[in-house]
Amino acid sequence: MNGNVAEYAEKEFDEVVAFHGCYCLDIAMGYRISKALMREMGDDMNNMKDVYAYVGAPTCAVDAIQKVTGCTPGKRNLVFTHTGKSVFVMHNVKTGKAVRAYCHYWDNFDHAQLREQRKAAHAPAATPEQKAALGTLLDHQIHGILAAPEATLFVLSRVQRDVPPRSSKYISAPCAVCGEFAKADLLQDQGGKKLCLECLQVGV
Ligand SMILES: [Zn+2]
Ligand SMILES: [Zn+2]
Repeated sequence: MNGNVAEYAEKEFDEVVAFHGCYCLDIAMGYRISKALMREMGDDMNNMKDVYAYVGAPTCAVDAIQKVTGCTPGKRNLVFTHTGKSVFVMHNVKTGKAVRAYCHYWDNFDHAQLREQRKAAHAPAATPEQKAALGTLLDHQIHGILAAPEATLFVLSRVQRDVPPRSSKYISAPCAVCGEFAKADLLQDQGGKKLCLECLQVGV
């Protein structure tokens, strides 16, 4: 599996940045990963009702996955695995094909310079030079990610995945305190009463 840089399309990347709402390194990484996963999945991305995305952590990169692959939490075909790892998997549950990306770029990445320059540029007394310096650094690092060979950013592999459980039937019931309806199996028992999580939090 080897990717090439030509797949980077400026217009498409701009659309991903607009969807995400911020111009950052991780959205560039998410874009590269999404494109690679789409390519490796090939025809297995054609029938979207069979396709799931799994992501290890809630990061900026997840917005690129949503925009490029079309899998979203609202459609329940974007699943957070909560491993806290920079791992992204696309899976066709019908054909069984699944491709995984682990992003090793961040393993040794030095965030200090970016953090310092961002702090300086966002300070009330920031000079135009400091603001321009942040823009230049961001551009440089983002273009670096967009142009880098895939192997320097992440590793792709074929994996086996179990078919995810179908989202359970939505049965709702009222909370004993506020009376508002919530998904029944999420109500918590307290002293024989079924409470919603909001009422449980405020400790009624
Ligand atoms: Zn971001
Ligand atoms: Zn309640």
